[in-house]
Amino acid sequence: MLQIRELRYAWPGGGREVLAIDRLDIAAGRKVFLHGPSGCGKSTLLGLMAGVLLARQGRTALLGQDWAALRASARDARRADHVGVVFQQFNLLPYLTVLDNVLLPCRFSRLRASRCAGSPLQAAKGLLERVALPHTAWTRRADALSVGQQQRVAAARALIGAPELVIADEPTSALDAALRDDFMAMLMQACDAAGSTLVFVSHDDRLAARFDERLSLPELNTALA
Ligand code: ADP
Ligand code: MG
Repeated sequence: MLQIRELRYAWPGGGREVLAIDRLDIAAGRKVFLHGPSGCGKSTLLGLMAGVLLARQGRTALLGQDWAALRASARDARRADHVGVVFQQFNLLPYLTVLDNVLLPCRFSRLRASRCAGSPLQAAKGLLERVALPHTAWTRRADALSVGQQQRVAAARALIGAPELVIADEPTSALDAALRDDFMAMLMQACDAAGSTLVFVSHDDRLAARFDERLSLPELNTALA
């Protein structure tokens, strides 16, 4: 699913290398917990995996394709086809309804739309059921929802059209303990149902036990040494 070799990354203008990873492979269908303290490069690594950032050196390949070999427009199309993302915050387009937010990936990717059983609308509704969002909320503007509800909608949007890779960047940090457990269970089940590989970032080690694999970024990232 993901293959990293001799990766080196420095932010433009920054000079200093923030990531150096010699080798990392993530197999299809795995659920991976990526952890480490703030500033160790977790979000940067997710950006590289999703082809939002480009390494200045090495290979970062998704489904056998190195992101660096593609033009920007091809990277955008490939990301829309194969990657679902849940961020820590600012997840949804506030002025769109919940349903329209969930449908967004299918507007950008015909492949994602074509993978929806029935229609994209039916798939969106099915996912909103799965994340237990009340029907009355489906046609409301996204910014009318609580933070916990918005994270559930963001997860539904990441999962629609069964992308091969789902990446989540500290999606539970704004949730209290009870909501966090619900959210985790829902995300795991939905990834299983879609057959998606999950790369989940958190500094909360209590979540680690639920995953197939645990990766410590400070151990992987030799730029921190
Ligand atoms: P984490 O997600 O583990 O907290 P980040 O990947 O956000 O870590 O950050 C890794 C390093 O890159 C930090 O030193 C941070 O200051 C730096 N960094 C993060 N984002 C940017 C950016 N947009 N521009 C320049 N430096 C950045
Ligand atoms: Mg981060």
